[in-house]
Amino acid sequence: MSDRTVSYIGGRDVDPVDGNYSVKLDPRTKAKTADVGNGGEKDVALACDAASKALPAWSDMRPSERGRILVDIARRLREDGQHIVDIESQETGKPGREMASLLDLTAQYFEFYGGIVNVMDGEVINVGPDYHVYTRRDPFGVIGVILPWNAPLHQAARAIAPALATGNTVVAKPSEHTSGSLVAFAKFAVAHGLPPGVFNVVVGKGAAIGPAMANHPAIRKISFTGGLKAGQELGRIAADRVLPLTLELGGKSANIVFDDADLDAAAKGSTRAFTWNSGQWCAAGTRLLVQESIHDAFVEKLVANVAELRLGPQFDASNGPITTEAQFEKIKSFFAIAERDGLTPAIGGKVATGSELGSGNYIEPTVYTGVRNDMEIAREEIFGPILCVIPFKDEADAIRIANDSDLGLAAGIWSQNIGRVHRVAARLEAGRIVVNEYSGGFVQTPCGGFKYSGYGREQGIDALSHYTQLKSVIIRL
Ligand code: NAD
Repeated sequence: MSDRTVSYIGGRDVDPVDGNYSVKLDPRTKAKTADVGNGGEKDVALACDAASKALPAWSDMRPSERGRILVDIARRLREDGQHIVDIESQETGKPGREMASLLDLTAQYFEFYGGIVNVMDGEVINVGPDYHVYTRRDPFGVIGVILPWNAPLHQAARAIAPALATGNTVVAKPSEHTSGSLVAFAKFAVAHGLPPGVFNVVVGKGAAIGPAMANHPAIRKISFTGGLKAGQELGRIAADRVLPLTLELGGKSANIVFDDADLDAAAKGSTRAFTWNSGQWCAAGTRLLVQESIHDAFVEKLVANVAELRLGPQFDASNGPITTEAQFEKIKSFFAIAERDGLTPAIGGKVATGSELGSGNYIEPTVYTGVRNDMEIAREEIFGPILCVIPFKDEADAIRIANDSDLGLAAGIWSQNIGRVHRVAARLEAGRIVVNEYSGGFVQTPCGGFKYSGYGREQGIDALSHYTQLKSVIIRL
């Protein structure tokens, strides 16, 4: 990858106005990979200016024409996007096999929203013969997109594709830890038909760029994916500006295994639920609720599955390293917290080392049993491969424990009893319920949180209503 990552504004590279850079390290080797520009308010102003200038032509373009450009970018991405994947793999440490599926997912967002924009419409409302009343879905204008580091391209695509499809232009801010792939993707999109200025990327730190974006008058809506603290800070500014927000925040999701489940499938799926992307996954199933009658037998199966995971930098590794130093330190601190609370791991419980792991930041996938739901380890989002196993008695008990959390992003249910599945799914306070597997859903399925996990929705058709504002036209005949 290039040794300098700078903003991409109006179709060209733009060095940080104040001339400052931070150093980016490869989490697999700790070798320096790039100097990343530290943009700020002035850089945001440049990007907002470019996005505002590009807006009239883009929003006036026929939806079918915008859609065609987006679908074409998706096709090109599948054919020629490997260099972007390589950058993200180096920035995040994600194994190559995971990155290949994430590239496919990124392309799917552009296909889905590029196609659906053709059937997006308002409606005619019948209020009587003396009126003609209809609604339109108008773009907001310039949309700010603020992103985390755990799955950069995927999270960018799910916000940027619907924003662009509906006629908005975008100023995106990737995480300062993983900016290179989004800059490369924006360049790729412009090289393959997107008009310059429609999709701009400002790189730099959150505290400098986030508030500057929220305060800039050209920005008319922000889609934020990240942690609670930054989301709340953004929300305070947004309240003053009456700025609409979508907040996609963290999770501490319950994954519930009933005694009538297919236990082999549940053990496999529950392993992936907390270890995918080394646990750096907002929707990770990190509270595993297991019915008492099968608890010991199930934990045995689970631990056997966890023992098979292979960490490392290789293409087909199950888990890569932890992406940032700060996150690595945070995860390690939970080993001490667990020990303080009298917990011993059934497997894992320490930093993973070995010649094949070099100096990378690897964590052993870890399972704690005998966890109570009121313990710190069961309440805080860790964002690493640490699982809390919590026993429950019956259906009501499982629902009570699952909902006893400030967060409500996702949940899993493992059961062969269809009545139970629907009863429990209806009562769980979470934005996505997955049954008899534990996955991230589909491009077509809405994603978002209950409670402190956020509001608004990305993905699916419903996201279109978060990137447009409804207007009523009332005509007296
Ligand atoms: P973070 O909140 O530290 O950073 C997210 C983004 O916000 C970064 O680009 C950062 O630079 C920026 N930022 C930081 N301070 C800001 C401020 N004051 N104003 C505006 N922007 C600011 O989060 P992270 O560590 O990058 O990501 C991990 C978090 O993201 C976890 O909590 C995870 O659960 C959450 N997440 C949620 C989803 C979802 O879909 N709900 C998906 C992925 C990650």
